[in-house]
This record gives sequence, C-alpha cells and structure tokens, in this order.
Amino acid sequence: MSSYQIETKCIQSGWHPKRGEPRVLPIYQSTTFKYDTSDQMGRLFDLEDSGYFYTRLQNPTNDAVAEKICELEGGVAAMLTSSGQAANYYAVFNICEAGDHMICSSAVYGGTFNLFSATVKKQGIECTFVDPDASAEEIAAEFRPNTKVLFAETIANPALVVLDIEKFAKVAHEHGVPLIVDNTFPTPINCRPFEWGADIVTHSTTKYMDGHAICVGGCIVDSGNFDWEKYADKYPGLTQPDPTYHGIIYTHKFGKGAYITKATAQIMRDLGSIQSPQNAFLLNVGLETLHLRVARHCENAAKVAEFLHGHDKVAWVNYAGLEDNKYHALAKKYMPGGTCGVISFGLKGGREVSVGFMDKLKLIAIVTHVADARTCVLHPASHTHRQMTDEQLEEAGVAPDLIRLSVGIENADDIIADLAQALETI
Ligand SMILES: *Cc1c(COP(=O)(O)O)cnc(C)c1O
Repeated sequence: MSSYQIETKCIQSGWHPKRGEPRVLPIYQSTTFKYDTSDQMGRLFDLEDSGYFYTRLQNPTNDAVAEKICELEGGVAAMLTSSGQAANYYAVFNICEAGDHMICSSAVYGGTFNLFSATVKKQGIECTFVDPDASAEEIAAEFRPNTKVLFAETIANPALVVLDIEKFAKVAHEHGVPLIVDNTFPTPINCRPFEWGADIVTHSTTKYMDGHAICVGGCIVDSGNFDWEKYADKYPGLTQPDPTYHGIIYTHKFGKGAYITKATAQIMRDLGSIQSPQNAFLLNVGLETLHLRVARHCENAAKVAEFLHGHDKVAWVNYAGLEDNKYHALAKKYMPGGTCGVISFGLKGGREVSVGFMDKLKLIAIVTHVADARTCVLHPASHTHRQMTDEQLEEAGVAPDLIRLSVGIENADDIIADLAQALETI
C-alpha cells in the first residue's frame, strides 16, 4: 500500500478484505473475541501472540482505521484514541512520568495548554512553554537533564503559527528527545511532519479527518525513527522490563513498534480512552474524501482571506496563504499545496465590534468547532480560551479581538456574501 499516492491511500488503505469478506470496512461491534483453547488466549495476554481479545485493547475496525492514518503519515504504527486530548495525553504520558520535564510550544490549542500546564503537572510532569518563533539556542536553553519530550503543533490552533519543524526536530534530537507534533490542522494531505524530522504525530481526528463534525476522536502515529535504546536510561518504560507483562522489554520485543505497543498494551489497557468502533467506522468514511475536502477548504479559505484582507473594516487577517503573512515562507516550505481552511482576523474597533459582527452572520454559525464541512466562527477569548489571562492569551498568540473563521466547503461566494452583509451592519 505504501507505494500508492496519498489520494489512493485515503480510499484504499487500512481494510484489505479476503475472499468473500465485506468490501467495506465493517463495524466490529463486539467487546470480545472467541478462542478455542485457554492457552491460545493466555498467549495473547502475555503479548506472545497478536490477536484480539477485548476491544479496550484492540478492535479490528479501529486497527484498520489507525493503519490508514499511519500510511497517510508515513509512519510504522498507530493507534486511535477517544479524542485528540487523549491522543496528546497518551503520546506524552507513554514516555514521561512523575519527576520528568517536557517542553511545549506556547502556541497550542487551549485544551493542550490546560493539559500540559495544569493536569499533567498534578501528575508530577513539569512543562515549560517556549515561543515557537524563538531561536534554536533559546529553545535549547530550556532543556534539562530530565526533559523527555518536545511538543508543538504544525499549524497552531487558533494562533495559526506555522511551526519550523526542522528547527524543532534538530533541537530535540541534539538533546536526545523525540519531537511530538500535533498535525491536526494541515492533515497529512498538506504536511507530513515525519518527512521533516518529527518522531511522533498526533491528531484530533474530530477536525478535518472526520470532516463532518460527527465524532470526537484522536490518533497517535509513530515514525519508528526515534532510537529509544540509545537513550535507554531516559526511557526506562520502553527499555526496561515491564512487570505487568512478565518482564517483557518493549524495544527488544517490538522494535520499531515499541512505542505504540506500549501505549496500547499498557496505557490504553489501564486508562481506557478508546475510540468506539462505530466512531472509527464514521471516521474512515471521512478519511475517504479527506484529499478532496482539504483541497477545497484551502481553495475557499484563500478566497475568503483575500476578501477580508481587502475590506476596510477589517483591522488584520492572519492566514499563512497570504503573501504578506509572517509565516508565508514557512508555509511554502512545509505545506506547498496549502495550509488549512482556518483563518483568523480582527475588526477595526476591537473586541466588542468583533463579537457584535459574529452575531450578524446568517450562513456562518457560531459553534465550538473548527475544521469541518460547514463554515463556522468562534471568538477564542470569550469561548475556548476564556480561562486564560490576557498575558497567557498573548503568549498563545490569541489577540482579544481574534475571530477564528473555519472556512467550509460551501460555495466561496456564499461565504463571502455572508461576511460582507455582516460587515455592512457594523
Ligand atoms: C481540537 C484539537 C485538539 C483536541 O482534540 P479533541 O478531539 O477535541 O479532544 C488537540 N489539538 C488540536 C490542534 C486541536 O485542534
């Protein structure tokens, strides 16, 4: 499958029916799986054989969809999770424990900021946030002997900062830690972070991958490139015996599959944030058109960004596709085919005017969502990021007047007409 182009993978990867089996990926709506002998099942519990026994650990529908996303990203192994939050948490917690330290770009999704600044902290993992535009030297200065992870978003939600993936990968690798990149916004259609040195990729599949705003979900993909054995002392969870599986050593037994096997067999076993097979089925239907939808999202967003850019009531527009954008060069390098369908902008008159304008929209709905087929808006300072102080908002690149506009796949003229009539009223 890996030799096919990405469009073909969207359709064909993951599910490979044999003679007489369903052509379309079925929903394995079963918590459990049958065996003939007690010994057969015992071997599964010892990780001596691979096979299904309980859906909290693995389910064929979920595995087929994870395999598709894995092939889209060009990784070696992947797993689905119940949400993007769970994906980011597991991706970090799989290699960090109490007493460890991590570094994260300050331009990240609000939920990710809370996760790393507050919740993970309560578990004894300390996170330092760095400006993604800082120099390699400045980022390097934040590393400590117990730093285990560098984390960032390819295109930050909602700040739309484009990550210099190579810069981050280089600093991470110079300090012997993996780079984890949340690739939700560009999707593998527009950017494949492994090609630029990232080691692990996460997704909120809730966004473009699902694409229809119907299922919350997440995914973790491993490139298989990080050499855990080389830094064995730092990653004992992967390189030392696991007493909960009779002392197996993940790197010895599973090689390049070590990271995802541990995350599944240990973290998912114990924390249980699985994606339901029903949702995985729906996600797979979304993935089949990902390449068509992402292209249209980008095409429409480019038109909308141009319109806003030229409007005299608009104070500023942030879209990396615009030539004068701060991140245009990085976007061209890492995402030559387009960035994403999300634009942010502010109106002359500031916060109050921005909020008033949103109430006048007719086609474009105010929803706490982003990156689906329907055009929608959100005011992060009043909604997703309302728990943040003005200082934290600033650090996360979220201006108080910022309107996040997620451009859908309707006709661009209708989207622009709705924006135009709402702008008329202010
Ligand atoms: C939405 C989002 C998340 C969280 O995902 P959920 O599926 O809502 O849990 C994480 N990262 C990014 C970049 C997101 O946009």
